[in-house]
Amino acid sequence: MPGIISGLSYFWGEQCNSEEALKKRSFQTYYKFFSNFLELSEGENISKKKEMGFHINNNNPDKTIKREKSQKKFKLYFKKNCKMFFNEAISINKTKVLLNNKRSIYGKKIILCAGLIGSTNLLKTICSDIDFRYYDHSPQIDLIYSKNINQNSDRNSIYSIVSKIYDKNYNIKYYLKYYPLKSLELLFFLGKIKFFLPKFILKYRFNLDNLYFIQKWDNNSFKEIRNDKTFFKYRFNKKQNFKKLDILYKKLKIFKIFSFRSNDDNFHFHNLRIIKNKKIISIENFLKKYNPSVYCLSLLAEKNINCLPPTFMNCLKTAIKIKKILK
Ligand SMILES: Cc1cc2nc3c(=O)[nH]c(=O)nc-3n(C[C@H](O)[C@H](O)[C@H](O)COP(=O)(O)OP(=O)(O)OC[C@H]3O[C@@H](n4cnc5c(N)ncnc54)[C@H](O)[C@@H]3O)c2cc1C
Repeated sequence: MPGIISGLSYFWGEQCNSEEALKKRSFQTYYKFFSNFLELSEGENISKKKEMGFHINNNNPDKTIKREKSQKKFKLYFKKNCKMFFNEAISINKTKVLLNNKRSIYGKKIILCAGLIGSTNLLKTICSDIDFRYYDHSPQIDLIYSKNINQNSDRNSIYSIVSKIYDKNYNIKYYLKYYPLKSLELLFFLGKIKFFLPKFILKYRFNLDNLYFIQKWDNNSFKEIRNDKTFFKYRFNKKQNFKKLDILYKKLKIFKIFSFRSNDDNFHFHNLRIIKNKKIISIENFLKKYNPSVYCLSLLAEKNINCLPPTFMNCLKTAIKIKKILK
């Protein structure tokens, strides 16, 4: 089963209350199923504002995912409804899947949802001389100072506020996460940038409560990762543009000190494509040609995602696709 189930081990549960999902009628049944199953409830709203034609919704972070409980529930659900093999799949050959206990299992239709590393390893067993290209989210980070940020937000979380910024038609434009500077987790960032920070910040002679890192995504915040290249392994989408957000900051009395783009992975891997004989082939075409019994789903099969954390929405889409495949 794809989606957040195995990923629950590290999943932060962001964007599980994806109101965007409710816009499409076909998603509603699945939305209800997963929401009830995971016992989701909405992150508390801190403020709603309208500025420069944007609708700004600030929420406390979602803490609705109860990992252990949800994982146990999923296990029980699958035990009841499927035959499970607690093994690693080593290779796929036509309709045969070889497991690491040396047993083989067979399937008329094999649905591959093994995350980036598992899926690409298994695809290589279908055809060994292939490479991969895929996308990941690629946010930027601003160090900002503002007295205007609601301090009642949950400052004990790594990030204290999640902000979704919509245009006048309620299409999502930006996704922001506020990390209070005192978060211990931020030492991770400080470790990297302390040489660029003015010394007074490091000596804490400042009201740190008004300093935040804002991690920000627009709908073009992507990078492509290319396994087929020795050099230029990353290609950033140059369309990423925060000019309007900068103006919005000024209106909201948020003073930006500097921004930078972290090279770290965001773990929202999607749009997986195959490189064979120096040509780019879509995953569907590759599987149609080399093993039509196999389907590769999950976020990896998603061509475009917007700036929001994509997993919950993808879970709904994947459930719909599986239903179609199994018809
Ligand atoms: C720290 C962190 C926080 C995150 N938080 C969020 C969030 O808040 N919101 C959000 O939308 N997204 C979040 N994500 C992204 C999210 O976790 C992924 O999008 C999601 O887990 C992808 O689900 P998946 O089922 O496709 O792959 P995975 O969750 O990677 O599951 C693949 C499973 O397949 C298993 N597997 C691999 N190879 C084999 C094999 N050969 N045989 C058998 N099994 C195999 C793996 O062990 C794993 O259990 C986060 C990711 C990380 C790392």
